[in-house]
Amino acid sequence: MATVHLPRSFVVLFPGAARQLEVESRSVLELIERLDADWPGMRNRLVDAGPSLREHINVFVDGERATLGTRLRSGSVVHVIPAIAGGASLQPAAPGTRIVVPPASGRAVVVGAGRTFRVVDVQGGQVGDLFAFNAHDLAEHQSAMHTRMHVNRLFPRVGEAFVTNRRRPILTFLEDTSPGAHDLLMAPCDPTRYRLLGVEGWHASCQENLGFAMAELGLAPRLVPQPINLFMNTPVLPDGSFGWLPSPSRPGDHVAFRAEMDAVIVLTSCAQDRVPINKPTLTELAIELP
Ligand SMILES: [Zn+2]
Repeated sequence: MATVHLPRSFVVLFPGAARQLEVESRSVLELIERLDADWPGMRNRLVDAGPSLREHINVFVDGERATLGTRLRSGSVVHVIPAIAGGASLQPAAPGTRIVVPPASGRAVVVGAGRTFRVVDVQGGQVGDLFAFNAHDLAEHQSAMHTRMHVNRLFPRVGEAFVTNRRRPILTFLEDTSPGAHDLLMAPCDPTRYRLLGVEGWHASCQENLGFAMAELGLAPRLVPQPINLFMNTPVLPDGSFGWLPSPSRPGDHVAFRAEMDAVIVLTSCAQDRVPINKPTLTELAIELP
């Protein structure tokens, strides 16, 4: 049995369909055909005459981009995500935009060069993974290892810049109202991390949510950069090990950045509920453009 997640915009077209369904099937195509048997017309919305997935439809199986032929196994988790058609989605977000990033999910937004944005820890104590890509060339992205060298510190101070893998500034750190616990050393959480922590079956992760968020803009990251882990309290201890401590940020604490190039910004509200870096209940974050 596979679990399929369908987008809200899609489910409303098919009375009785749910956002999350359990379907017995051995491949993505068979899954779509079984859905079509219950909700006629679903296949036609997802599959062209090829047959292949329609251009604006992205399907992920266990976090990997899939095709109609991708095999499913018992426990597979399938996400169907429509990309926003055309290039219009790469228009920079308008002033006043506020995007809520629900717990254990991700959102992407384009921020034009010179524009500023805030990441708000709405309820406090929630880690957010921030990724920044050159909007015109996703192969260029904020690079933790280049940034640490650039500022000669573990994390930039307010006024300093995060740079790309081409050593060009992409974000300038403008403001920090939180106690200042942030991390630039850790990989984002991913399905394997949760498996190693003893989770059986699917678990939301920042790596997967990065892919889902970018797919909503019709984009796919070529790789998963090391994120800027905001509000994350994992200090280097005197013996060289890491502390894994609860985030000390308070409700409404925020950090602000200026984009130094047209940038695709992705923020995930970290899904980590096995290691106590978040509050016991995960909460939302927000991206705000003044
Ligand atoms: Zn995470």
